[in-house]
Amino acid sequence: MSAVFDTPDEAKKAEKAAYEINKLSKRLHRLAGQAITDFNMIEEGDKVMVCMSGGKDSYAMLDILLNLQQRAPIRFELVAVNLDQKQPGFPEHVLPEYLTSRGVPFHIENQDTYSIVKRVIPEGKTTCGLCSRLRRGILYRVAGELGCTKIALGHHRDDILQTLFMNMFFGSKLKGMPAKLVSDDGRNVVIRPLAYVPEADLERWAEHRQFPIIPCTLCGSQDNLQRVQISQMLRDWDKRFPGRVDNLFSALGNIVPSHLMDRNLFPFASLKATGVPDPQGDRAFDEDDDCAPPSVITIQR
Ligand code: SF4
Repeated sequence: MSAVFDTPDEAKKAEKAAYEINKLSKRLHRLAGQAITDFNMIEEGDKVMVCMSGGKDSYAMLDILLNLQQRAPIRFELVAVNLDQKQPGFPEHVLPEYLTSRGVPFHIENQDTYSIVKRVIPEGKTTCGLCSRLRRGILYRVAGELGCTKIALGHHRDDILQTLFMNMFFGSKLKGMPAKLVSDDGRNVVIRPLAYVPEADLERWAEHRQFPIIPCTLCGSQDNLQRVQISQMLRDWDKRFPGRVDNLFSALGNIVPSHLMDRNLFPFASLKATGVPDPQGDRAFDEDDDCAPPSVITIQR
């Protein structure tokens, strides 16, 4: 049945909104599909454990994977897993109801990590370190018990960039968040199918799909202020300098070790002139190098 609108203006608005949502849907599936292909995240016969926190990212990840599963040329299984950490007020019916309505096989793992964290960490100290260590161990174990070959996490492009800046600012490391990794227990492959997807797209998708989102503040942990500031910095850049954040993200897949300073990645110590010109070789001055410090560059008006 087609919708009835009071005015041509309303009809036009609705048509535009439908067009935008269709574009968003295509973009989300294209970006997730691209990341899955680029990193060979999912292979024939895989059983993927989709970690569901109840936040917008995990709902969107499941939604997109379910869709891709229908269209993919390979066969793979999905099983949604939620770890109920027994945080006060956690609405434990929400995820089972949603997952049942979508016809997705699921498992709810009940483990009271909340009490452990509260008991061990003194009041006022940050709880996330211990909490995520406990969660990680439990999810690895559950993946083994369910016979899952991959563990999918819902981190997106902005999470990866925030982590990159956190590591640079506070850890003196040029290190983001891997799209695919072998877990520290050596037994699991962890994938991030949303690695290419901007958070703003996931926010719009969650709103459109009306996911029953569970608030992520139930544990009472304060937001990590540094991460919040970095997130704001990136959003601000994105507004003021369109394309900058995209370029930053592309840079993560386009690394030139000879132009960085890590002596483990490039054999600076043993470099010798070869006497043979190499048009693809490194240059002392790149085209975009300034030839003078900013103070002496003349600005033409
Ligand atoms: S925000 Fe809360 S639930 Fe999340 S890792 Fe930190 S303590 Fe755990």
